[in-house]
Amino acid sequence: MTIGVDDDESAFSRLEDNKGLAESWLRICGRLKGEVGEVEYRTWLTQIALGPIDGDEITLLLPTRFLRDWVRSQYGDRLNELWHNEVPALRRVELQVARPGDPAPLQLAEVAASPVGSPLAPEEQNPATKPVAEVRSDLVTALDSRFTFDTFVVGKPNEFAYACARRVAEKPSSVGFNPLFLYGGVGLGKTHLMHAIGAELVRSGNVSVAYMSAEKFMYRFIAAIRSQSTIEFKEQLRSVDVLMIDDLQFLIGKDNTQEEFFHTFNALVDAGRQIVVSADKSPSDLSGLEDRLRTRLGCGMVADIHATTFELRISILEAKAAASGVVVPAKVLEFLAHKITSNVRELEGALNRLIAHANLFGRPVTLEATQDVLHDILKAHDRRVTIEEIQKKVAEHWNIRLTDMSSARRARNVARPRQVAMYLAKQLTSRSLPEIGRKFGNRDHTTVMHAVNRVTELMERDAAFAEDVELMRRMLES
Ligand code: ADP
Ligand code: MG
Repeated sequence: MTIGVDDDESAFSRLEDNKGLAESWLRICGRLKGEVGEVEYRTWLTQIALGPIDGDEITLLLPTRFLRDWVRSQYGDRLNELWHNEVPALRRVELQVARPGDPAPLQLAEVAASPVGSPLAPEEQNPATKPVAEVRSDLVTALDSRFTFDTFVVGKPNEFAYACARRVAEKPSSVGFNPLFLYGGVGLGKTHLMHAIGAELVRSGNVSVAYMSAEKFMYRFIAAIRSQSTIEFKEQLRSVDVLMIDDLQFLIGKDNTQEEFFHTFNALVDAGRQIVVSADKSPSDLSGLEDRLRTRLGCGMVADIHATTFELRISILEAKAAASGVVVPAKVLEFLAHKITSNVRELEGALNRLIAHANLFGRPVTLEATQDVLHDILKAHDRRVTIEEIQKKVAEHWNIRLTDMSSARRARNVARPRQVAMYLAKQLTSRSLPEIGRKFGNRDHTTVMHAVNRVTELMERDAAFAEDVELMRRMLES
């Protein structure tokens, strides 16, 4: 390919400009996200940081060797192409493992939140999410076909929200509450439930549905103002049977859009149409939304999706592992469910990475491989472990009372776990033997030493016991 001198010069002058480069990168990320889908994008590509430019080569940095190799094998060529399209003078993308002090990844979200006119309304360009169907193609953001009621795992924290969502999907004309307001922390399944409602309604036919993020709602609204077509926009919106607006918190501080949403909302409710809204907080906690809007939002059914429990995390992991066809041992699932407690998205991302790794190298998933492959994720979730936590976890695991950690009881079923806890305290904390002894009912340091030796010995002799202790250690590890 020949590139004119002028092209080269302007390209290089853009390279001088870091902001331009960051913008190029974010545009590339937007494209990639559209091409590979949300989950893949989050799992692999959000971890890439921009490195230096040297001549016609740009360096991208990844936190681990495994990630670097994976990104190189899966996305290397595409990255080359996309960079070359953005900055024609760039001909090569070099992927390297980041060192301490290297720049952190830029996140697409940083741009998604930027003012109107950003080229990156992220859902705008997402051919990879296959539409289930489009009743009002002008109003429906492609529904992600993976997000259905069937693939949603129900547990205590989300059963109420799930039941409400089902209700809307079954009988939108006589739901009995309006709006349905779903709220909960990030990555807990709000968008999944809304897409599930949409998919179900579309499947049953005869109902027009509009789903969009509040952000998209704003873009649409502003675009309509610019093209002097606000009346059409309003009419379109007001003609649907079910309107779903995701991530309403985005409208905080966007007064005109809020105003428009408020009117649309009222018009639809008055006309007997159903509305579903999601946000990260309850209506009363969404300070920054106009009072009258908050009041109306709180008038229907408000359903909270709570943080996940261990049991729910296990069920979700089991379901997703089964769907992937890769055998993931129960111990690994337990380990993940213990370690990654923040939200389902991260949990899913971690599992996806394990599965991809297993597929790529054809090796079985083990606890060791898990620690290795996920070490960057796990590190982020790590914290310093205390003797109290060790005692608690060990007592739970072997089903003894916490008080028995310091009691004088010598029965084997109590003494053995106590010894394991002492062993782990020695391994995982910087406490001295006498200090550890004191925390276990004022025992002598020689007792602790004996426990450490005894557990070490047993672990050498008994593989199942060793594995148990090892699992405890990994769960507690800081
Ligand atoms: P939110 O919109 O609340 O931030 P999402 O709906 O985007 O969260 O969920 C994040 C990811 O976690 C999605 O991939 C979704 O499918 C998955 N997920 C969340 N909750 C569940 C669940 N209960 N069962 C199965 N997958 C879930
Ligand atoms: Mg969401």
